Amino acid sequence: MTDHVRVRFAPSPTGMLHIGGLRTALFNYLFAKHHKGSFILRIEDTDQARYVAGAEADITTSLKWAGLDVDEGPEKGGSYGPYRQSERSDIYAKYAAQLVDSGHAYYAFDTSEEIDDMRNRLQSPANPTPKYDSVTRLEMKNSLTLPEEEVKKRLDSGEPFIIRLLVPDGETIRFDDLIRGTVSFESTGLDDQVLLKSDGLPTYHLANVVDDHLMEISHVIRGEEWLSSAPKHILLYRYLGWEPPAMAHLPLIMSPKGGKLSKRNAEELGIPINVRDYIRDRYEPDAVVNFLAYLGWSTGDDREILTLSELTGEFSLDRVSKSGAIFDLKKLQWYNEHYLRARPVQDLVPEVRTIAEDAGYTGFSDDYLAVVIRLMIERAGRLPDVVAQGHFFFRSPESYDDQAMKKAWKENTGELVSEFREAINALSGEGYNAVEIKAQLSSVIEKHGVGFGKLMLPVRLAVTGEGSGPDLFETMVLLGRDEVIARLDAAVGGLN
Ligand code: GLU
Repeated sequence: MTDHVRVRFAPSPTGMLHIGGLRTALFNYLFAKHHKGSFILRIEDTDQARYVAGAEADITTSLKWAGLDVDEGPEKGGSYGPYRQSERSDIYAKYAAQLVDSGHAYYAFDTSEEIDDMRNRLQSPANPTPKYDSVTRLEMKNSLTLPEEEVKKRLDSGEPFIIRLLVPDGETIRFDDLIRGTVSFESTGLDDQVLLKSDGLPTYHLANVVDDHLMEISHVIRGEEWLSSAPKHILLYRYLGWEPPAMAHLPLIMSPKGGKLSKRNAEELGIPINVRDYIRDRYEPDAVVNFLAYLGWSTGDDREILTLSELTGEFSLDRVSKSGAIFDLKKLQWYNEHYLRARPVQDLVPEVRTIAEDAGYTGFSDDYLAVVIRLMIERAGRLPDVVAQGHFFFRSPESYDDQAMKKAWKENTGELVSEFREAINALSGEGYNAVEIKAQLSSVIEKHGVGFGKLMLPVRLAVTGEGSGPDLFETMVLLGRDEVIARLDAAVGGLN
């Protein structure tokens, strides 16, 4: 093994990349970059039944979006390729056969009906899910029970077979996990894992171990859900005569309501589950990255805002926690607001243009959009809010907020608004500015001896349709005098 740190993100393309998958990728990336090592993408696509077209492209897009550039992978290439397991299928059978030869694996010929029969036969309250293991293997049709001649005959005649790992009985399998310390499993609880399937393709376990070895992976960093597979992997390394990589199992991502964050409970809580949802909703990638880094890790002090390169500098597996990390959507929103507001307005203009166009709002200049952004950004959780909450910058109100209306629109309101309308209609050119508009509003309320809100709120409603929003006078300046007058007229005409 080289001294060089080499880690891999090894997703199976069985669906769109989950946000938890991106967290695994990020921790691998941070660890690799912190140690000036390599971050490798390997596509584990040996399970053809679960293959989803488009899943690999989704993985690649997601990593790029998050800024996690891979050093080696299916697209990038590299000297340990190919990086798709489906393109490496001729490699694995050799190692499975080697394990059979050394007595650590065996051929099995049982049909699925025969395995079901065994399960039904042996099922009891004491053994609710009988396995193909040290207890049952000698009752089954395999190269341990059949005469050698017959095994040979079956293999030569092309009868379908699989290869299973011969898990030892009564052994404690121990390994050191960089996050969890010493972990031990009793071999007796393990089934004789299928290594090679009847289609000649390896299962995840065999392919994963073979590839981690051949690709000289120094550290396996993956989710806790893979911890129970680790003892089988440890046995495979041992039987193949290889040094296992260091292992680190990341804490589960938990729902705030308890339990593992699943697609279903995430949906119930409004938590986007797939990375593509974050891309669609235009979350800031830096915010998502910063948030994900803190799902199970922290700097150990009170710093919370760190960019990808700062995270790289700080990252260490020592500070990854063992306990589950709760997905706090509010915290993500907090990060998003932070990173959104830190972006230069000029960078946001083209994106806001696209969002506006998608909503059917066309024909606005860059300068106009820049002012909309300046006025709206402090209120926006995500960039699309600039357009959604600032709809009145793009079209006149189609309705007025009911509650605010009840509060604001009283009997004499129309009169006050009309008087204000006349006052600003008289302002022309440079005179139509925020200071002047405000002065005119003040003079109307003073004249009538009413509070500021008595006119301010109705005007806001008339101009924006909303009971609250950005600076009203700046809003009126941006909309322009004629547009504002038209909106005031429409409100007074429609509401009195
Ligand atoms: N292919 C596995 C997955 O889909 C990889 C697990 C591992 O990293 O070993 O997550």
